Amino acid sequence: MIRAQVFQNAACGWRCWYCFVPFDMLNGNESKGTWLTAERLVSLYAAEADRPDVIDLSGGSPDLTPEWVVWMMDALEAAGLAETTYLWSDDNLSTDYVFTKLSDAQRERMVGYLNYGRVCCFKGFDAASFAFNTTARPEDYDAQFERFGRYLDLGLDLYGYVTLTGPDVAATTRGVPTLLDRLQALDPNLPLRVVPLSIGNFSPTRERDDRGGQGRFEAAVPVQEAAIAIWNTELERRYPADLRARAIVDVPLRPRP
Ligand code: SF4
Repeated sequence: MIRAQVFQNAACGWRCWYCFVPFDMLNGNESKGTWLTAERLVSLYAAEADRPDVIDLSGGSPDLTPEWVVWMMDALEAAGLAETTYLWSDDNLSTDYVFTKLSDAQRERMVGYLNYGRVCCFKGFDAASFAFNTTARPEDYDAQFERFGRYLDLGLDLYGYVTLTGPDVAATTRGVPTLLDRLQALDPNLPLRVVPLSIGNFSPTRERDDRGGQGRFEAAVPVQEAAIAIWNTELERRYPADLRARAIVDVPLRPRP
């Protein structure tokens, strides 16, 4: 178990049916949040009597505000907490703002900062399951891989989640191995840094019943179970036991130029 201080931005461009954040907290609705500077967040964290060693910048979708990560790095350093705090940020791969909104110096800051890791969430095992999960356009499925590849090339310490739900259990037979092929095309060991998330019947999902939440959960359960079974079988087939047994942080990725 790891204890973490979680800060969330109250915005996301997607609407995953299983999101554990109520949708009215994903709209950038000011009545659901407070405007705070990175310095203020760090000062609140520093004031905790029994503060955890990890800060998680979550959401919503923190990649909508890519400067947040850099500003937190600056604030942690200014507070003398950069060496004792691990900074972790989530990313749903819905934007390329790290490359289009940050400066070269800010990207270099992210890469050079010692205690930073980023986890990116892949949604689904093919374009149809991606659209089923997020209600976004199916063609955005491919963009996830391109964006993750750019982060790898940048040199960030990267990890992944994947949600293996979809509308069609038969599609898992081809979809999951193809997903693993695509991850391995980015880096041969990348699947071992990606964790399939098991979608539970969370209360926000149940409360979305009238918008299809509960119905989607019931449809998705057999798909998810089949997909995770294929995922595990494929990992056994593709990797030796000693590599699979490593802690996720010790799974080596190819050095980047
Ligand atoms: S991308 Fe994440 S925050 Fe956005 S709706 Fe999906 S689960 Fe929720």
